[in-house]
Amino acid sequence: LGSKLVDALGKLQSSMLLDDGIINQVIKDICLALIQADVNIQQVNELRQSIKRSLDANAIAAGHNKRVLVRQAVVEALSKMFDPGHPPFQPKRGRTNIIMFVGLQGSGKTTTVAKYANFYKKKGFKCAVVCADTFRAGAFSQLQQNAAKVRVPFYGEQENKDPVAIALAGVRMFTEEGFDLIIVDTSGRHMQDTELFEEMKQVADAIHPNDIVFVMDSSIGQAAHDQALAFRQKVNITSVVVTKLDGHAKGGGALVAATQSPIVFLGVGEGFDQMELFNTHSFISRLLGMGDVQGLVAKMEEMDLEKKHPELIQNLTEGRFTYKDLRSVLETFMQAGSLTQMMDMMPGPVGKFFHDMQGGDAANADREGFLRLKGFMTIMDSMTEEELNSVKPLTATRVSRLARGSGQHSRMVQALIEAHKLFSRFGSQLKGLGINPAGDINPR
Ligand code: GDP
Ligand code: MG
Repeated sequence: LGSKLVDALGKLQSSMLLDDGIINQVIKDICLALIQADVNIQQVNELRQSIKRSLDANAIAAGHNKRVLVRQAVVEALSKMFDPGHPPFQPKRGRTNIIMFVGLQGSGKTTTVAKYANFYKKKGFKCAVVCADTFRAGAFSQLQQNAAKVRVPFYGEQENKDPVAIALAGVRMFTEEGFDLIIVDTSGRHMQDTELFEEMKQVADAIHPNDIVFVMDSSIGQAAHDQALAFRQKVNITSVVVTKLDGHAKGGGALVAATQSPIVFLGVGEGFDQMELFNTHSFISRLLGMGDVQGLVAKMEEMDLEKKHPELIQNLTEGRFTYKDLRSVLETFMQAGSLTQMMDMMPGPVGKFFHDMQGGDAANADREGFLRLKGFMTIMDSMTEEELNSVKPLTATRVSRLARGSGQHSRMVQALIEAHKLFSRFGSQLKGLGINPAGDINPR
């Protein structure tokens, strides 16, 4: 979905003359990209209307930059589409937060329970998990193992077949032991199973969760709408996690269907750290190829980059992005472990640049990407202080000296210069959109 939207908006950038024909074409392309990503036609039509309305309203104020206006209209309309209009539940430390996970079998509940515990544990929460899935064989040991991997206590009763009794016992025990965050995993089964919905309701009535998290598999496309509705009719869904967004081009349907309740996280892999905080603004920026600066900044924060290099973000937005800054960013990527995940947050052209030089499956791309990054680092190691502090592309003589000095191919040096250019351009692009990457970083 992302790259198609990027291409559509790219037309805005590349067209010399921005007449109504081109603007209409861009809007049409955007709508087509959404439909192909399985977003419901009616919702796409509403989006089209809303873009047109805001363009008509703004056209009166002549002298505005049309490119900026169109982009803004698209961003606004998409934001409205994803925004449920109220913030998600936020667990607080120092009290008991009971979180119940629901969703169909195979949607990713048990995996997400572990990711969720892992995420909040890192934030200093005292977390525990309870297995109230008595339906699926192996549910008990799956969650037990997941819990052990992320090192949080687990409660379950292998012999007991009463999910309500188990959930209640687990929640009581962990509440008494003073846990902040008690996460209850439930069984999934299939949509036609009325027993499932009844059981889910009984568990909810018994443990009074503060938050009911609906876990939805993004690969189900349009079916997401009915599924979300069915769950919502039975229990009070207060948060949504959309899973398996890695490797699915058709995630749009699930994302949009989900949004009557706020999406809190996105699952982007099977690993317990492959979950991202959902932030409407970040997500849309990323969809449109503007990069997810907030997400990047949040990641960098996690890695203490802000503290180590406080000037970096500012340099980025103020057009003073140096090779030294680039080195800090790339170092962060290498430490982050998952290159591809980081690259997905990069603004369109930068992300594309790294993706293009990778290829193959994710693991392969990661490996390949690491090799390139190592090459970049070697080149920057042989840069002079003056070169490192430069904000301009390096001259041809410097390129050949650096290639010789670092033992890297001059194509690699060129690629590095290209990467630096892309980052620099990205900063000014953000400014044009009136996005302030330094502010409103991450609500949690
Ligand atoms: P449950 O039946 O709802 O509890 O689902 P599980 O947690 O057992 O997950 C079903 C399958 O989906 C497992 O193989 C998981 O590893 C996989 N899975 C869960 N979340 C993700 C995700 O975000 N990305 C990918 N690629 N796989 C996932
Ligand atoms: Mg499960």
